[in-house]
Amino acid sequence: MWATLVAPLFDGIGALMSNEFSVSVLEEAYLLWKGTFKQFMLIPKSTSSEVVYQMIGIDLVELIFKNKEAVMEKWEHRKKGMKVGNDGFTKVQRYNPLIGIPKEFCQIIRVEGQICIPCWKKGIKIVINQKHLEDVHGIEILGYQRLWTEIRDYFVEKKKQIFDKPLKRLNREEFRKKWLDVIKTILTDTYKKIAGFCKLGSDII
Ligand SMILES: [Zn+2]
Repeated sequence: MWATLVAPLFDGIGALMSNEFSVSVLEEAYLLWKGTFKQFMLIPKSTSSEVVYQMIGIDLVELIFKNKEAVMEKWEHRKKGMKVGNDGFTKVQRYNPLIGIPKEFCQIIRVEGQICIPCWKKGIKIVINQKHLEDVHGIEILGYQRLWTEIRDYFVEKKKQIFDKPLKRLNREEFRKKWLDVIKTILTDTYKKIAGFCKLGSDII
């Protein structure tokens, strides 16, 4: 949904970014790009950038340069009084590694973005991510980053299987069947282990 509704709004910025040499401006645009995705998915700001980038499934650098090419070509067409449409321009490949992944996956990410209550009572504001729980409180949870690696690898494997079969598409239902129960079980297990560590629905950072 984000890729359809929000990402196209960045097409214009993408073309401008190819001529932008100020690192801070580029960084700002990149942060905005990731930020809209996090807001849309209702996941915390503290979510790993690498995971967010992979969840988005679009190569931003490729997007910038493809958009620049398209803008330049359209400009040349206009100069010659030719009709300008969107046909004939190579589109950036958009992967959808979130295909068939239930909303509970984002809930697992949200859990790890909440403030640890026992530490907060001691004056330390820190999120209850997997590393903190293990290192400080001796509690093991699976953690969304490890889970994401499995989801991503499975997606890549399935994508490879249809690489040379252009008429074949990934089957959303197959992904749903593979992940629904697994993700729900992990979420329930995580909730059980962190009971008392956070007030669900409290501050997410
Ligand atoms: Zn803590």
